[in-house]
Parts: sequence; C-alpha cells; structure tokens
Amino acid sequence: MPTARILFPLPLPEPFDYLIPDGLKVESGSYVRAPLGKYERTGVVWEIVETDPTRELKAIDSVFPTPPMPASMRRFIEFCARYNVAGPGQVLGMALRARGGLSPSPTQTVYAATGHRTNRMTSAREKVLQAALDAGPASAAELARLAGVSASVVKGLAEAGSLSAKTLATDLPFPNPDPNRAGPDLTAEQAAAAADLRAAARNGGYTPFLLDGITGSGKTEVYFEAISETLRQDPDAQVLVLLPEIALTQAVFDRFEARFGAGPAPWHSSLSDQQRRRTWREVAHGRARIVTGARSALFLPFANLKLIIVDEEHDTSFKQEDGVRYHARDMAVMRAKLEEAGVILASATPALETVVNAETGRYRRLKLSARPGAARLPDMDLVDLRANTPEKGNWLSPVLSKALVDTHAAGEQSLLFLNRRGYAPLVICKACGERLKSPGTESWLTEHRYTNRLVCHLTGWSMPKPDKCPLCGAKDSLMGVGPGVERVAEEVRVLLPEAKVEVFSSDTAMGGEATRGIVERMAHGEIDVLVGTQIVAKGHNFPNLTLVGVVDADSGLQGGDLRAGERTYQLLSQVAGRAGRAERPGRALIQTYQPENPAMQALAASDRDGFLKIERDVREELILPPFGRMAAMVLSAPDAGMAKEIGLVAGKVAPNGDGVTVYGPAPAPISILRGRHRLRFLITAPRDIDLSAYMAAWLKDLKLPNAARVAVDIDPYSFL
Ligand code: ADP
Repeated sequence: MPTARILFPLPLPEPFDYLIPDGLKVESGSYVRAPLGKYERTGVVWEIVETDPTRELKAIDSVFPTPPMPASMRRFIEFCARYNVAGPGQVLGMALRARGGLSPSPTQTVYAATGHRTNRMTSAREKVLQAALDAGPASAAELARLAGVSASVVKGLAEAGSLSAKTLATDLPFPNPDPNRAGPDLTAEQAAAAADLRAAARNGGYTPFLLDGITGSGKTEVYFEAISETLRQDPDAQVLVLLPEIALTQAVFDRFEARFGAGPAPWHSSLSDQQRRRTWREVAHGRARIVTGARSALFLPFANLKLIIVDEEHDTSFKQEDGVRYHARDMAVMRAKLEEAGVILASATPALETVVNAETGRYRRLKLSARPGAARLPDMDLVDLRANTPEKGNWLSPVLSKALVDTHAAGEQSLLFLNRRGYAPLVICKACGERLKSPGTESWLTEHRYTNRLVCHLTGWSMPKPDKCPLCGAKDSLMGVGPGVERVAEEVRVLLPEAKVEVFSSDTAMGGEATRGIVERMAHGEIDVLVGTQIVAKGHNFPNLTLVGVVDADSGLQGGDLRAGERTYQLLSQVAGRAGRAERPGRALIQTYQPENPAMQALAASDRDGFLKIERDVREELILPPFGRMAAMVLSAPDAGMAKEIGLVAGKVAPNGDGVTVYGPAPAPISILRGRHRLRFLITAPRDIDLSAYMAAWLKDLKLPNAARVAVDIDPYSFL
C-alpha cells in the first residue's frame, strides 16, 4: 500500500506515515493538510513508500495547489538539519514561513472608469472618477481614500455604469526581468570576469566562484552579467541574490530594475504578510525569476534554482545565532551543489574561510582590482592618537576635526565610525567610584542621552537615568565615561554648528524601514555628517561622501574571539571604502593608539592579502577554522546550582571522539543572561572529523531537567 511519509514543521525527529485516499493526487514533495494529534496541520510529503496494508493509518486530508517541493530542496533541508544539529522539521519550518503562499492569491474587486458619464454627477462623484482616471483600476476603498469620500460613492458610480467592476488577484505576479538589456561597457578586467561567469552559466551545473573585488570595482555589474546569461539559458531559471538585511534598500531594487527592466521579488524582515506570501507563492510556482533577500531567503522553495549570489559574503549577519543556527553563505554553497546550480560569493574583504577555499581550488577566484572611471580607493591615513591627541573631553583629533571642517566647506559629506551605541559606554559615580551594572549581571550600563536612560546592550534592560548614585546616594554624581556615537555627534555639532548631523545606529534606526530612510537621506545629500556604528559599513553607495573618520580603530581588536582581527580589518576597510565611490576622490582617517599593529599597518597600506596571510598562518598553526572544525554547546539554567550540575552531567556524557577536544564547561563570557546562568563548552576537531555527528551523538545522550536548555552552534561566530 503506498504510504505518504509527511514531515511537519515541528520539532519532531522524523516524518509520520499517512494513508493516501483514493482520488487524491499526492506525490513526493506535495504540500498537504493532515491530522496530527488534535489538530489538522500543514506538512510536506517527504517520500512515498510501500507499507504493510494492515496498518491502521490516518489519511491525508487535502493537497495544496502548489507545485511539489523539489527533491533537491528536501535533500537540502535534510542536509541543513544534520549539519547544524537541528530537527528536519525545524528547518522545514523556515521553508514554510508564508503559509498564505500555499493557496491561490485572494481576490478583490477593482473599479475602472468606463467613460460613461451619468447625468447625476456630484462633486464627490467627480473626485472619484478623477481618482479612477489617475490611479487606474483600484479597490473601492482605495478610490474612496484617494478622492477623500466614502466608499458608497464608488458603489453608486458602479451602479450608474460610470465605473466597471472586475475581480482581480491581490497578489500579482512579478514582472518578468529582461535578460537582454545591455549593462554599462565593462572595463577589461570586468569583462574577463563576466566572460568566465557567463561561460559557467552556459555550461550549467555546480560551479562555485569567489568574486573578489575592491569596493566599487563593479562586482554588482559583473554578477548582473551572470544573472542575464542564466536567465537567457533557461526560460524557467530562477536566481537568488542574498544580501545582508540592511543592504536591501530601495537603491538596490532600483538598480536591479534599471538593469533588468523589472524589480526583483523581495524577501526580508520588514515585508508585510501579503508581500511575504506573494514572494513565497511566486517562487514556489517558479514565476519569480530574480529574488533578492536576506539570509532566510535561502529557505524559499525555488522550483528551478540555477544561480545563487551571496553578496558581501564575509558579512557576519549571514550567520543566524538563534533557533536553527546556520551560516547562510556556507549553506548557500551546499544548496547550489544539491541544485546543481552556480554560486558566486562576492566581497571586497572575503572571509578567510572563503579565501582558503579559493586557494585550494574549491572555488574559482575572479579578481577586480580597480574602480572604473575616475573613482579610486580612498587614501588611508593612520592618525597616531599619542602624537595627535584630542582636546580634553573630546574624541576627534585636530587632524580629523580639520578634515571635517574642510569637507563640509567643500560641500561634501563625511562619515564618522564608532562601534559604540549611545552616549557613553560606562557610567560611574564620581563620589564612590561605583560602575553601574544591569541588576544581577556583570554587564555595564550605557548612557543614552536621546532617551535619557541607562541601557544594558545585552538584554535591552533599561532604566531612567537616576539623579543620584544608587549605591552611595550622592546627588548629580553620575558621569558617562568614554565615547558613544551620540557623544561624538555632539562634538561634531559644536565643531560644525551649521551642518546637518545624524546618528545612525540600531537605536536611531529600528528595523529595516528606518534604516532605509537614513540611507536614502544620506544618498540624497540631506545629511552632512553621519555618525554611525557598524550599521554604516554595509554596501551603501553614497556618491558625495569623501571623508571617512574612524574614531577608535582599536576597540575591535580587544575582543577575545578568533575572528576579532579579521573582523576589524573587514569592518574598517569596508567603512573606509564608503568614501570616494563616484567621481570624487575620498580619504579615510583612522585614529589609533596602536599604529604599529599588523591590522592597522595592513589597512593603511591597503594590503589585504598581507593581512590575510598573517591571520591564515596563525589559524593553521592552531588548527582553528578553516583548518580545523569548531562547535559550541551552551547550557543554561535558572540558577547557578543547576547550571553547575548540568555542566558536570554534560561533561560526563561527552562521547569519546578521536581527535576531538572538549574544553569546558566554563562560565560563558555572558554568564548571566535574562536571569539564566550560562555555561559553555568549546569543541575542536581536525577537518576530517564529522563534528556535526559527534555533537548529535552527545545531545542524544544528554538528559537534562526541564528547566535547563541546551543549544549547539556548529562553527560559532559569536563567543558570548
Ligand atoms: P561593487 O559591487 O564592487 O561595490 P558596483 O558594481 O556597485 O561595485 O560599482 C560601483 C559603481 O560603479 C556603481 O555605481 C556602478 O554602476 C559603477 N560602475 C561599475 N562598473 C562600471 C562600468 N564598467 N562603467 C560604468 N560604471 C560602472
């Protein structure tokens, strides 16, 4: 008897068997409704198997009118679950984020002007008719809104024959991109890279590329060529372009639209439910040909995915840190392999992992070393803060201050980078020396002046700034120490009272829309000096930006994690690369107390490869990624006693693995988070060991009390 094994998007270990009722067309990959426990649920038929006909099975209830999930996608979900030590149902959940997309689009009634004028026209009716002429077919509510009248006026006009009603889908298909539109004339090195990519698209199959080009060298123009060729080769081919969430701006959509005559299908966290289900449905039916999305777009069920591009591939936002922990860049490469599709990783500062893959020949490397036309990389100068010390209470050196004044006088924009939110990262009492901490934790509170609150940046806990010290009671004794972006902005306002100064951090730009707003104001020249955290480093294009100042280049180097140096280098060179992207030459001034540090030296010399070589040698020596494997296990419990106990238990049941070393348990650097006490194990192994299987075996043997929690992170990026 043919039996459907259905996987549900729930934390269950495996699919369940169901009867296929007569007359229901069910195949592997079908999206179905079936009873599970007390509820009817949506799941995916993972496979169809023959089972013993005497078994009593529940039956599938219905099938959605959606093309079945391709086998390659089902294999990808299995791979992703196994590799990241998660349940396949949890990964399936990420692929089913827009259930509305499983059903056909809802419909609405729209009204269009017929040209017939009734002889009973009122001014309200005139306004509606005008709105219908201006806006084209629209819903009654929309026409009423545009005309500023009630919807009954629209209905009246329809009855009188001046408007005709038509039923239309609310979620329209995306317009088809035209792959035959010409891009700009490519420079010789751009043309060479594009030719390689086009040839790979013509040959088809899995071909991974690293597109390694300095900022502004035209990586986007070059991968547009790969997209065109892919779409030309196969009238049903689909292309996915992954970008850091924050880079998904209107400007990027406009660029796709300008090149392909149609905007891409978007996928990011600020989509409405309707936009989300529309993209999901169009992707699943194979009708959305180009999708631009944040990391989660990798889990969309493409019908015929032929090319994946991961732009800014080094960006740490591709790593998901909660729920199913995965790295979208690494998973994208695997997905491309399973889909037998092309994959292009693009960056000006590729991750060491990617560079090593290129060196060993796993990826083909394409280099772009120049900016087209007059644009060139900014001059990078280190400002030695020991010799060029800011005035007392200030954070900008005389050199940087003067550069800001000159840039503003020339009518150009500046960007100041400081990776610290708020006004001051530490608040102390002048009377007793107390450093204010978030209650029950070891983390310092940051002063925020705009909101006049003290905020814990780990948990978001906050309180109004007290007027006396909570410990000794001294009045007006609390003082912010050190700079945050708000304080630097204050300094700029004193220096340049006429300038429009804005702060750009996750506090001032909550969510995608606000972020896009600031980016667009900057691009349109409505901001003179932007003071921002790492949020500013991402691939925005600001043509009139000519000065970048890095306020404190040293802060990133102090972190204890293995990628601290690499990240500092990437971040600072990306920030500096914001300057001088168009015709105007740019300049970057990097303030540091350690000008002799290798990261600083390499930065000043724009010697990225020299820097990577030092990093590479260190990691190879210590057998750290990508030369070895690493995983983390974080355990947490509501109290310190239980945390200690489960740490001991977990340590005891850790399997013996040849070559695997388990460090810990040790208190996690954030030892208390939201009232939970946290311990962590760090696990390292040589490259040829299957560390995912090792961690899965460990979890299987780990029996914990209900109040305890455990999370596994394969190849961790955050060491907190
Ligand atoms: P990247 O992605 O490497 O940062 P972009 O593709 O965004 O670089 O290119 C930077 C700028 O230079 C863009 O405005 C782009 O349109 C322009 N550009 C790139 N290549 C060319 C070219 N061959 N001719 C004209 N303009 C170009």
